[in-house]
Amino acid sequence: MKIAVLSRNRELYSTQRLVEAAEARGHQIEVIDPLMCYMNINQTRSAIHYKGRNLDGFDAVIPRVGSSITFYGTAVLRQFEMMGVYALNESAAISRARDKLCSLQLLARDGIGLPITGFADKPGDIPDLIDMVGGAPLVIKLLEGTQGIGVVLAETRTAAESVIEAFMGLNANILVQQYIKEANGADIRCFVIGNKIVAAMKRQAKAGEFRSNLHRGGTASLVKLSAAEKRTALAAAKSIGLEVAGVDILRSNNGPVVMEVNASPGLEGIEGATAIDVAGLIIDYLEQQVEKQQKRSKKR
Ligand code: ADP
Ligand code: GLU
Repeated sequence: MKIAVLSRNRELYSTQRLVEAAEARGHQIEVIDPLMCYMNINQTRSAIHYKGRNLDGFDAVIPRVGSSITFYGTAVLRQFEMMGVYALNESAAISRARDKLCSLQLLARDGIGLPITGFADKPGDIPDLIDMVGGAPLVIKLLEGTQGIGVVLAETRTAAESVIEAFMGLNANILVQQYIKEANGADIRCFVIGNKIVAAMKRQAKAGEFRSNLHRGGTASLVKLSAAEKRTALAAAKSIGLEVAGVDILRSNNGPVVMEVNASPGLEGIEGATAIDVAGLIIDYLEQQVEKQQKRSKKR
């Protein structure tokens, strides 16, 4: 196959591992910076150009589009899709996943467990909003945050009111969430490929911290998932429409609750913690999917 990886940086661990895994299987693979692509949107000759060269003949594209370039990155990915190139994750699903609020709304509609979550615009609605999610302590999240930045634990009602007011004063979109104390600063990352969970790890926050992100000093270890956790992670990826996803789950007293569905889950943490060749499994999956797509188009 001829594969494109849409990634801004070929030095990143995940990008390198995908390139290695594809080359080991005899594929031709090229890392393409989506911001250096420009496009001709045309009813007969749609094209993508890259540093003066026409990008054509690709069988598959692997998006590794960071959240800072979601808009342009998904536009380039969509152009590949329009040209009939198989996308490991579709542009529409990535856009959905990047909107945390939209993701939670979809998960809720599909009956997937979530921390009770509220959203409001007007400072006057804060007291009622806090009551809606069950009062303090509660978690306040900036919708635009990643890697745990912009996630705040408010221990008391007074603290919650002032933090929410401050964010609203800055015109920041925030959501307010029930604090899952019993998770004890741990969450579970489930790595989904197709309809399988291929790897999972538990991330534990460092002492005195409730956010378990590895970027916030959390540590990863192996974990065995319950049947309910597996079901929840697979249903969450499906609900957002992602083929490959990192689903983050908290263990709550009411069973697993989903915090987030990542469209571009990192490989370094999960491969390090589990010693599973996740990059290889992604390429294997891509081979199967492209083969299926090519059989389908021959039949037509
Ligand atoms: P980000 O997308 O920035 O990583 P998350 O929503 O995943 O933000 O939150 C970061 C971390 O904070 C999570 O990994 C989890 O450990 C902790 N956390 C987030 N929401 C809650 C919650 N409602 N209850 C308990 N802990 C939470
Ligand atoms: N982008 C990383 C991921 O989705 C974040 C990992 C982390 O902060 O723990 O896996």
